[in-house]
Amino acid sequence: MDVLKKITELLKENGFKVTKGRAEVLALFFKADRPLSQKEIMEMLRLDLDRASVYRILDAFTQAGLIHMAYVDGRHRVYELPGKCGAHSCHPHFSCRGCGMTACLEDFKGRYKVDLADGFVAERQKVLIEGLCPSCKGK
Ligand SMILES: [Zn+2]
Ligand SMILES: [Zn+2]
Repeated sequence: MDVLKKITELLKENGFKVTKGRAEVLALFFKADRPLSQKEIMEMLRLDLDRASVYRILDAFTQAGLIHMAYVDGRHRVYELPGKCGAHSCHPHFSCRGCGMTACLEDFKGRYKVDLADGFVAERQKVLIEGLCPSCKGK
C-alpha cells in the first residue's frame, strides 16, 4: 500500500477529516527514521502552515494515538509513530541536551525489571538516556 493511501485511511479511521496539512504532517513521520520535534516538522513541511496549526495537528494526533511523545522537556517535544512500541513499554531513546535531537535505541529489547513499593502499579515504562550528540559534543 502506498504511503499516501495508508495515511488517508489512518486519518479517516481515527475520525479526522483528511486535509493537506494533516496528511503532510503524518507523512513526515512515515518518512523519518527518527522522532521529530515540532521545529523539525516546521522545517520539513512544504506546505505553508503556521506554528499554531502544526501544534494543533500534533496535539490532536497525540490524543488520538496516531503519534506519541518520545521525549518531552518543557516545551521541547519530540514525537514519533507508536508502531515500534508495545502497550506497556516504549523502546528507549537517546536525547541530546544540546540540540534536543532524539534517536530511537531499538537494540534494547524487552522491559527492565523494576521493583515498585507495595500498592504502586506500573502502567508504562519509558527509558531515556540523555547526553550529547556528535555535533554538540564538539562545541
Ligand atoms: Zn545535539
Ligand atoms: Zn523511538
